[in-house]
Amino acid sequence: MKYIGAHVSASGGVYNAPLNALKIGAKAFALFTKNQRRWVSKPLEQKSIEKFKENLQLANIKPKHVLPHDSYLINLGHPDEEKREKSLSAFIDEIKRCDLLGLNKLNFHPGSHLKEISEEECLALIAISMNKAIKETKNISLVIENTAGQGSNLGYKFEHLAYIISKIEDKSRVGVCIDTCHMFTAGYDLRSHEAYSKTWDDFDKIVGFEYLQGMHINDSKPDLGSRVDRHDSIGKGKIGLNAFKFIMNDKRMDDIPLILETIDESIWPEEIKLLYSLEK
Ligand SMILES: [Zn+2]
Ligand SMILES: [Zn+2]
Repeated sequence: MKYIGAHVSASGGVYNAPLNALKIGAKAFALFTKNQRRWVSKPLEQKSIEKFKENLQLANIKPKHVLPHDSYLINLGHPDEEKREKSLSAFIDEIKRCDLLGLNKLNFHPGSHLKEISEEECLALIAISMNKAIKETKNISLVIENTAGQGSNLGYKFEHLAYIISKIEDKSRVGVCIDTCHMFTAGYDLRSHEAYSKTWDDFDKIVGFEYLQGMHINDSKPDLGSRVDRHDSIGKGKIGLNAFKFIMNDKRMDDIPLILETIDESIWPEEIKLLYSLEK
């Protein structure tokens, strides 16, 4: 069974996110557990945590189908040690927030080398940061997102994800989230049946489906391999509807959160219906 949702607003309080998911007919959702553009946020209050859990039940959504996203400021592979440490403590805070909410995952972008260090050095730093974070927290799986490879962002090759995973000491605490737009603009085609099969065969060989813990379901404004990150509404971009039909009929994407981050949130209810209508 597929669990489709969207990255919904948590404004006014985290407990509003499940209600916003319910409103659009979602069976899964993503959220920011704090302001994603600030370093520091107030700790979660006990009342908010309880209300979040109540509303999750009200929306009939399981904790495992919630995929929180971390702040855009965090760079676990920052070449500067002080800035990397700042990122790490913010990351640990985010992991603890997810744990307090009774969730089991945190989705994050691996990091950027800022053209100051090599890709490999940066990937190694990311893994070191993750290992430290894992030691200081519990329960939460750190879900690495693939990227479009814009600027100096790493994670645009399956090999990057595999390299980081290979260096994680506790493999039960690591997973990956594949964003279809990022995948496509990073050069992985999904449009024909052959291309779709090849891309996921490569993914399985290099990373492994056992690590797939979520997906971001987005069409793409830019072309295959452009390394530019611009999402589009489902079926309206360069990927096209076929790829999403393949996903909806692919058992390997069952029982994980499939999250829309498409550009027009007013049509999320229709996009969710459209995706479910593609199931045979
Ligand atoms: Zn992301
Ligand atoms: Zn994106």
